[in-house]
Parts: sequence; C-alpha cells; structure tokens
Amino acid sequence: MKPPLLDTFLRLIANTGPISIAHYMAESNAHYYASRDPFGVTGDFITAPEISQMFGELIGLWMADIWTRAGRDERVHYVELGPGRGTLARDALRAAGRYGLNPRPHFVETSTALKALQLERHPDAVWHDDLSTLPTDGPILLVANEFLDALPVRQLVRTAHGWRERMVGIHQGRLAAVAGTAPMEAAVPASLATAPEGAIIETSPASAAVVNEVAGRLARQGGAALFIDYGHAEPRLGSSLQAVRAHRKVDVFSSPGEADLTAHVDFSALAPIARARGAHSLGTVEQGRWLKALGIDARARALCAHAPDQAAAIAAAHERLTGEGQMGALFKVMGIAGPDWPDGAGFEGMSRS
Ligand code: SAH
Repeated sequence: MKPPLLDTFLRLIANTGPISIAHYMAESNAHYYASRDPFGVTGDFITAPEISQMFGELIGLWMADIWTRAGRDERVHYVELGPGRGTLARDALRAAGRYGLNPRPHFVETSTALKALQLERHPDAVWHDDLSTLPTDGPILLVANEFLDALPVRQLVRTAHGWRERMVGIHQGRLAAVAGTAPMEAAVPASLATAPEGAIIETSPASAAVVNEVAGRLARQGGAALFIDYGHAEPRLGSSLQAVRAHRKVDVFSSPGEADLTAHVDFSALAPIARARGAHSLGTVEQGRWLKALGIDARARALCAHAPDQAAAIAAAHERLTGEGQMGALFKVMGIAGPDWPDGAGFEGMSRS
C-alpha cells in the first residue's frame, strides 16, 4: 500500500502543479513526528541523549556553570526545542540540580505522540507549540538537539535558463525533483550567481527564524543557548536533504511522512543572525571536542567504576558520541548568549563576537 501522504502529494501535484521542497519537507515531517516515537533500535534513528546519559548530563553541567558565573538568577527557565522522549532534559536537569539549578522545564513540541512521552518523564513541564509563548520574565537556558535539521529547507537550482526554485513534481508516476518556472536570481547571493549549471543552494528560513527569536530573547532576558546538530560551520553548495527509515537512508521522495527528512544545518548562516539580534556568539565547535572539554572522559571513567559490568557499553557510547568517524566531527555545538553573559565552557579558543 502507498503511504497515505504519498497519495495525497501525487493527487495534489497532478491537480495543481509542483510544490516547493520546503513545503514537501514541512508537511512530511509534521506527519512523521505527529504519528510515532521514531527513536531507538526499533525506531528509525537514535540521537545522542538516547545513546548515553553522559550527553544530557554534560549539557546540564554546562548550563549550571554559565548560570553560576552569570550570578545565579533564580528566575531562570529551562527551554528545550523538540525534546523527543524527554531524555536529554531528564539527564541535564538531574545534573544541574546538584549545583542548585532547578528551573521549570518549558518544551516546544508539536508532536502529540512525543508530548505524551515527555509528560511521563516531566509532569511539571509546560508545553508550547512555538517559541512565541515562552516566558519573558527571566533568563533562558535553552537547548535544541537535532531540532534544526528537521525544519524545512528551501533549495534553488541553477538551470540552463538561470536560477529556479527546486520543486517536487511528478515524473513517470513518481515524485521527483523538478525546477520551478519563476526566475529566482534575486534570491541568490552575488558570490554564487555564477555557480555552474546543476548547482544547488540550500537555505533554511525556518532555522533562521528560530535562531532570530532565541537571540532576541537572550538579548532582552539574558541566558544562553546551545544548538547541536549535524552540519557545517562553512557555507557549502549542494543538497543535503536525506530521508532515514529503520536506520537506513532511503529515497527522499519514496515515503513522505514515513521517513525522517533532515538537512544539514548551515551554522555559518546562523551565528551572524544571532549577532545581528544583539546576542553574542560563543562559537561553533565539533561535538567530540566540546564533550571532551566538558569532561566526558572523566564522566565515562566514573560511570565505569560505578558499574564495571557496563564498561564495554559505556566505552562504545563514548566512542559513538566523540569519535571522529562517528558523531564527534560531523555534529557541531553552537553556543550563543545574552550580551552580559560570560563565555561558555567548551568553546575555548573561539573568538567571542
Ligand atoms: N532532541 C531530541 C529529539 C530530536 S528529533 C533528541 O535529541 O532525542 C526532533 C524533535 O523536534 C522531535 O521531538 C519533533 O517532534 C520535534 N519537532 C520537529 N519539528 C518541529 C517543529 N516544527 N516544532 C516543534 N517541534 C518540532
């Protein structure tokens, strides 16, 4: 049987013409997340907090550290964007609590299925459909792990006739990428205007809007934010759109709503947005380096000493989170903070701007 959303897209496009990649990605992911718990071995993919408690704990320690050095404002709020199963929040808040940081969690989440899981672990949390209703009365400590990669990207493609929006159309009865008809030269930065035919520019207006909103709040309310995702700190050409189902990459057009659609995060575009809103950028570093600077080696040793029978599993999780060929280099941590807030641990050697 065809996935129901595939059927809907085929009918929609046959009747009214191609839709943008951004429209396709937004609807596919809204359907995907609304209907399931995608994590773990029996799901489609696994994320860092589900690999090991060390990940969330170190984020909690990072927050407690910067909050302490900023003066321990008790009105502080914990905010998480796309908290998944609530695992990261559980580990981070437990670790932060040891340092006297016990903020009430605020979760920005649209999936009903995942909200139900989050409620089991965080009965005291407050849920928000988007960032606009987050509290305004104190500093914010915010984390977003693998959130931005799920937000829709827009793609422009250079054709023989000039720049066009990349769309989803129908070719031989299947969904396929096609070029739109409207000229898009005005949306292309001057430095890329002469890119060769076939070149693709990918941007994420939705991610830019999130960082813009977070940075504005940090500038007004104080606080700090960590955005963690796979992506790059230098601008790039090409499509990074991918679909993952049952731990395997699948065709991005074959099963909309049944596979997780993601794109790499262009951190080089996001840090300037934060600065333009009056927040300061603490830097963007590789996840492996950041976790090591925060003390993941010592934390792994302590866990092993406590549970020697788990030593092999702890070592494997440590390697998966920090290894160069694993998540350590592909994933990046971007920190931003309010103008009066101190630098964050783990970003040493990055120039604050
Ligand atoms: N941070 C979690 C989950 C990552 S998956 C972890 O690391 O395990 C992406 C999360 O973002 C899910 O919780 C999903 O439901 C949520 N999400 C995706 N798009 C969203 C949107 N537009 N608004 C709010 N939440 C969204």
